[in-house]
Amino acid sequence: MENSPASRGADIDPAGLAVDLRGVVKAYDNGLVALGPIDLAVRRGEFVSLLGPSGCGKSTALRLIAALSAATSGTVRVARPAVTENGRHPIGFVFQEPTLMPWTTVRENVRLPLKLARVASSQANARVDEALARIGLSEFADSYPRELSGGMKMRVSLARALVTDPDILLMDEPFAALDEITRFRLNNDLLALWRSLRKTVIFVTHSVFESVYLSQRVLVMTPRPGRIAAEITIETKEPRSEEFRTSADYAGYCRRVSSALAPAYSGQSA
Ligand code: ADP
Repeated sequence: MENSPASRGADIDPAGLAVDLRGVVKAYDNGLVALGPIDLAVRRGEFVSLLGPSGCGKSTALRLIAALSAATSGTVRVARPAVTENGRHPIGFVFQEPTLMPWTTVRENVRLPLKLARVASSQANARVDEALARIGLSEFADSYPRELSGGMKMRVSLARALVTDPDILLMDEPFAALDEITRFRLNNDLLALWRSLRKTVIFVTHSVFESVYLSQRVLVMTPRPGRIAAEITIETKEPRSEEFRTSADYAGYCRRVSSALAPAYSGQSA
């Protein structure tokens, strides 16, 4: 089941991969080739960033992994958890906009995926409570989205993704609209969650600084159609903290990633 036409594998080999894209190309119906060919292998439990200029196909790549869209050619394989009943889903998706239902509470927003999967309400309640506690919003369970700050709304969106206990978390520029201090806090909280839950995270951003701070590996993409132009492994003392953000190591990695990204912006006016 390799290559053209596109295929989607159910299971992945036992080599410890969560996601494996081989020779993947995405052309939209209007003929625009948005992505590829791209090879992308992500290990289970890894935190990887896709970094690239706007329009290079980062969201397209996430949508292919989430099966929200089909590849034109190539193979997309995603690891499936052994158990998927009770509203468990292999993939959680966090978008740039929190996309909350404004007419109902935080608790009901987080419960939505379990409701759609018809999980019994006693079980759903416990899982919603747990997800809210993990992202520090227990006290706001009965609040409405309009009563929350931008950062808190994004936390709700993260809790909604976590409530299905996915192995893989896909995050599409989730913190781009937040002010810097809130963004830094959410960066730290996301790292703490990742350390305790050991999910695979694929994080899309166009911020060099954010990609270096968060990831074990930064994949720098070319302009559309996006391909992987460079791969930079970030090795530093773990767990990372604000200390890392001001270290010489961090500055060095940011320089390396910026130079790898520079060609993608050449020819574009500021
Ligand atoms: P990024 O996330 O890197 O900003 P996208 O994956 O959103 O990039 O988009 C890549 C390219 O594909 C862009 O030029 C965008 O306009 C185009 N594109 C995205 N979705 C569609 C679609 N449904 N139909 C046609 N073109 C699309």
